[in-house]
Amino acid sequence: LFAQECRFIAGTMTVEALPPPGPVEIAFAGRSNVGKSSLINALTNRNSLARISRTPGRTQQINFFDLAGRLVLVDLPGHGYAKVGRAKVAEWSKLIAAYLKGRPNLVRLLLLIDSRVGFKEPDLKLMELLDEVALSYQIVMTKADEMKPDELEIARARLAIQLARRPAAHPEIIITSSRSKAGIDQLRAELTALIDR
Ligand code: GDP
Repeated sequence: LFAQECRFIAGTMTVEALPPPGPVEIAFAGRSNVGKSSLINALTNRNSLARISRTPGRTQQINFFDLAGRLVLVDLPGHGYAKVGRAKVAEWSKLIAAYLKGRPNLVRLLLLIDSRVGFKEPDLKLMELLDEVALSYQIVMTKADEMKPDELEIARARLAIQLARRPAAHPEIIITSSRSKAGIDQLRAELTALIDR
């Protein structure tokens, strides 16, 4: 599936302009610079997607990418970036909340966390919202190549403890690196399995 053609469908900054629900959707969220564009590129073996998401104006949008008409990857705007200011963050939060609440074909959200950094306030806020709307989310640790295996294990355990305190159960934390490609095949397999459920 991930070897198939991946096509940009739409980018929107307003709830009204969301594309109509089609195939199964998987959303990607994370703080700016977490490595979201790099991960989407690594999954799809392409560079063009990130380029679209980074085109000025499109960074603040929800961007939709179609994989062979069977799966849609949804790139949510990066949250909690100091430079954009509170008003902008509030605007994004509203758009994201509206999308997450009202999307019947959205089956999972991948919350990207920098392996070296862990959860930050904006991540916890998003997790609260996800628990509220009862959307299944999975933690994907990024930039694993930056850490030694034992440090990585400690970081994963720390995240798992914090997750365990939350109300819902969660799919297993995945450790990835777009640079070394660690975890990329595993993530592809998990996402593919979500289509046929
Ligand atoms: P985004 O803002 O979340 O889309 O993040 P990007 O994909 O643009 O990546 C942000 C920065 O992290 C860039 O400088 C990337 O080169 C770097 N980066 C992304 N993925 C990895 C990775 O797997 N390993 C390392 N070491 N750096 C990464």
